[in-house]
Amino acid sequence: MNLADSESLSRQLLAAGYAEEPDPERADIAILNTCVVRQGSEDRVYSKLHELRAWKTPERTLAITGCLVKKEGERLRSRFPQLDAVVPIGEYQPFISDLESRYDYADGEPLPAAGRTGISHYVNVIQGCDHNCTFCIVPKVRGREVPKPAAGVLAECRRALAEGARELVLLGQNVDDYRDPGSGAGLAELVRKVEGLSGLARLRFMTSHPQDLEPELLEVMAASSVVAHELQLPVQSGDDRVLKRMARGYQVRHYREIVRRARVLMPDLGLYTDVIVGFPGETDEMFLNTRRLLEELQFDVVHLAMYSPRPGTHAGERWPDDVPLVEKRKRINDLLQLQRAIAGHRTASWIGRRVEVLVEGTDELGRTYGRNRQGKRVIVKRARPAPGSLVQVSIEEATPGQLAGVAA
Ligand code: SF4
Repeated sequence: MNLADSESLSRQLLAAGYAEEPDPERADIAILNTCVVRQGSEDRVYSKLHELRAWKTPERTLAITGCLVKKEGERLRSRFPQLDAVVPIGEYQPFISDLESRYDYADGEPLPAAGRTGISHYVNVIQGCDHNCTFCIVPKVRGREVPKPAAGVLAECRRALAEGARELVLLGQNVDDYRDPGSGAGLAELVRKVEGLSGLARLRFMTSHPQDLEPELLEVMAASSVVAHELQLPVQSGDDRVLKRMARGYQVRHYREIVRRARVLMPDLGLYTDVIVGFPGETDEMFLNTRRLLEELQFDVVHLAMYSPRPGTHAGERWPDDVPLVEKRKRINDLLQLQRAIAGHRTASWIGRRVEVLVEGTDELGRTYGRNRQGKRVIVKRARPAPGSLVQVSIEEATPGQLAGVAA
C-alpha cells in the first residue's frame, strides 16, 4: 500500500513538471514515505531524517509523508526542524501547490496509470482497518475502514487498462472487508466485475483476512481465467492461545479449513502468509505449534517477523516483551530454515510443467522475467517476449525463490 501511495504522489509530481533524481546531491526535494509497522522501520526513518540534516539547505525542500505523519503529526516539526513539510497520506495537492511557489517548472508528463512496471496498476479499494489486532499499529495510523465505491474502482481500472496496464492489484489492509458503500456488495462481487474488463491479463488482490474471507471469493477465483490463484492470507501463529491474545478473531482450525477448501478448488494455489515469532507469552510449546502448522500447510512463502512492541498498541502497552531476543532469533532462524526447505520442495514440483507467465520486464542480468498465476517469479530463457505479454513457459529449473524455463 505504501508503494501505491508513492506511485500516486510521483504521478502527481511528474505531472506538475518535476523529474525523479535518485542522487540526493543533485535533487532539490527529498520526500520520505514512511512505514511504522515495526519499530525497526520507524527507527530507519529517524536515522534518515538525521542523515538528511546535512543535505538540507534553505533552497532545498525536505518533506515527510506516510504512516509516521499519521502517528506523530505536527510533533515531527518540532523534533526535526529541518522538515519543510509534513504531508498527510493522500493529501498531496496542497503540498504540490506549495512547491510551485518555491520552484518554477513547466507542466510535465505524469507516470502512466500502468505504474512503474508499465504493467501493473495498484488500486486502493479500502483504506484503514476495523480490526484491532493487539500487536498492530495500523488501525491507529490508517484509521477506520473507508471503502471506495465500486463504480469509482471500475472507472480507475478502465483508465489504467486504456493506458496500457495488463495487471490490476486491488489493495486493502484487509481487502476482504471491502463493501461497496452503495450496494453493500463485497470483494467477490467486485472481483467478478473487474475481471470482466477488456484488456486485463491478470487480477490480484491483497491482503486477505481469515476471519473475513468470503467463501464465494474462492469460487470466483477458481472459475476465472484471469484472477491469480494466489492467496495472501496471514496466519500470524499456529497456536490458538496466541491467536486469542493477538485478537485475530479465528482459530487454527478455521484457517486450516479455508486452505483446505481453497486447495480443493485450486490445487495449484500459491499460498503466502505472515508469521510473528516471540509474541508476549509465546512458550516453546506454542512456538512448536506454529512450526507444525508450517510443516502441515506447506506455504509457498512465509513472511517472518520477530515481535517488536509498538507503543500505542494493546500488546505494546500492557504486556511485557517477555521472550528474550536470543530466543526470538533462535525461533525465527529455525522457521527460516524450515520454510526454505518447504519452498524449495514447492517450487521443484513445477519442473516439467507449463505455466502461464505475465511478462513484467528485464532483470539486472538482462533476463526476461514475469510471474505465473500463482504469484511465483519466473525467468523466461532464450526469448524476449514484450512486457505485458502472456506466454506459456515450460519450467526446467527451480530455486526456493523462483522458477526458470523456456517459452513453449
Ligand atoms: Fe493490523 Fe491487519 Fe489486524 Fe488490521 S487486520 S489490525 S491491519 S494486522
